[in-house]
Amino acid sequence: MRLAVTISAIMAFGPAVSAQQTTDAISPESTTGLAQRTDAVRAQNWMISTANPLASQAGANVLSRGGNAIDAMVAVQAMLGLVEPQSSGLGGGAFLVYYDARTGTLTTLDGRETAPMAATDTLFQTASGEAMKFYDAVVGGRSVGTPGTPMLMATAHQKWGQMQWQNLLAPAIERAELGFSVSPRLAGLIANDVDRLKTDPAAASYFLGADGNPLPAGTLLHNPDYAATLRDLAQNGVDAFYHGDIAHAIAAKVQGATGNPGLLATDDLAGYQVIERQPVCASYRAHEVCGMGPPSSGGLTVGQILGLIEPYDIAGMGPDSVDSWRLIGDASRLAFADRGRYIADSDFVDVPVRGLLDPDYLADRARLLDRTTTLPDAQPGNPPRTHAARFADDTSIEFPSTSHFSIVDDWGNVVSMTTTIENGFGSRLMVRGFLLNNELTDFSFESHADGVPVANRVEPGKRPRSSMAPTIVMKDGKPVIAAGSPGGSRIIGYVAQSLIAMIDWQMDPQQAINQPRRVNRFGPYDLEAGTPDVDLAPKLAAMGFKTNVTDLNSGLHIIEITENGLIGGADPRREGLVIGE
Ligand code: GLU
Repeated sequence: MRLAVTISAIMAFGPAVSAQQTTDAISPESTTGLAQRTDAVRAQNWMISTANPLASQAGANVLSRGGNAIDAMVAVQAMLGLVEPQSSGLGGGAFLVYYDARTGTLTTLDGRETAPMAATDTLFQTASGEAMKFYDAVVGGRSVGTPGTPMLMATAHQKWGQMQWQNLLAPAIERAELGFSVSPRLAGLIANDVDRLKTDPAAASYFLGADGNPLPAGTLLHNPDYAATLRDLAQNGVDAFYHGDIAHAIAAKVQGATGNPGLLATDDLAGYQVIERQPVCASYRAHEVCGMGPPSSGGLTVGQILGLIEPYDIAGMGPDSVDSWRLIGDASRLAFADRGRYIADSDFVDVPVRGLLDPDYLADRARLLDRTTTLPDAQPGNPPRTHAARFADDTSIEFPSTSHFSIVDDWGNVVSMTTTIENGFGSRLMVRGFLLNNELTDFSFESHADGVPVANRVEPGKRPRSSMAPTIVMKDGKPVIAAGSPGGSRIIGYVAQSLIAMIDWQMDPQQAINQPRRVNRFGPYDLEAGTPDVDLAPKLAAMGFKTNVTDLNSGLHIIEITENGLIGGADPRREGLVIGE
């Protein structure tokens, strides 16, 4: 593994950019180098792929001792909250896409954070009505939404788990008490964030040494507070988090944040609910690509990209054809234009879910791509819809932090889960051994444009629009791929690119993950630095694209389910590991 940490400077963002959400433009978590690329892992019975070896091992121990995929999910999430604390944990939110082999059904759980009931649509605006600067909004209490991850873990476990809840939390409790070795990636990210971590004394004393310097890789880090929190959840169930002592501690921390207090109250925690929702499925070349519907834009936007390229012979053109990338890049721009206009929390806004994936609508939009150069302009379309509310395009940014894991168990149950605290280290507020999210900055900072409301504006109790795209691909009624990634709004491109690589170009999961990342959201084509893609830049430029060679920070963890067994891949851009038997 290349240990050198190559952290790129995160762009500073001023006022919101039109047609683009503030968080959309940013990478939530910096890159920390590319490990050596390896071959896919193969197994017969079960498999797990996560972003951290200790988390993969915790899940593998459950799977090898007769636990199912949901049991393993609980153990993995508890461990990730300890060893990859900047990316996900008890203080954040998550989406689970789950295939239940016994009933042959696919469902999703929405554990997204919610806006406090006291929030208004000016939450991220200055006194003069301007959008706040991104980090002014993120750091402190203002950005913290009601966490959903603990309740998602418990809800999934109550519905489908088979091992004892306490036993699933025990390995993370033990590891928190014995200590774990700070990984090179975590050390690099701490070093890059010292000033922000110093704003919270609890975060500073955990992530920085007594001398105020960032903890180096290899430090043995203990987290007795996290062990105590998990022990409380193990003994008293998830109510211990949403009511009583822990809930009071969270609300007090948010409301008492120096300089940037927030609104989250104990009533918000007490009222939190995980919502079971229908998956959103899009047809693509005899597959059903199923993922998370609103409040995530993931399932719909991945589905639109695939639907827009379906009329073109991407398989025949192959991965080396510049025209393949022109089509994928411009399909993505069209899908992002619709995303910015129409997608938000569908419990608050009438999102045309069916219309956005309507075959005639997509076929019409796909005809725009029948050309040889890039589209000069990508505007939202007019999907069929029952109500015709008018929305302005939204302006929010997403920096990639977050983690994705995929699990297949002995019985054929499949978990595809993306889990987050939003920005790397979230709001930087630490309480009871875990970090609180800054998920509310996934809302549009601007509530209206020229008097027209933005669909993804802040409203009390609403869930901010996400880009997370945990996906299960079905073929002939059976799951064949579990995939997903972190990466802010680039998640959508990372997932779409991997599925195209596997379905059209017959790559295995590791080959698909290893491909240089190529993502186009709003016009400029992002190409991965340090890869042969540097050569692609002039070719795309000749077609009229603006290109941007940059560090790209996917964290794809993919399992393919074939007639001959399971094939898994982990992203060399993070510290992941596949284990199977
Ligand atoms: N907060 C982002 C979202 O929900 C995820 C951030 C990331 O992946 O890094 O879309």
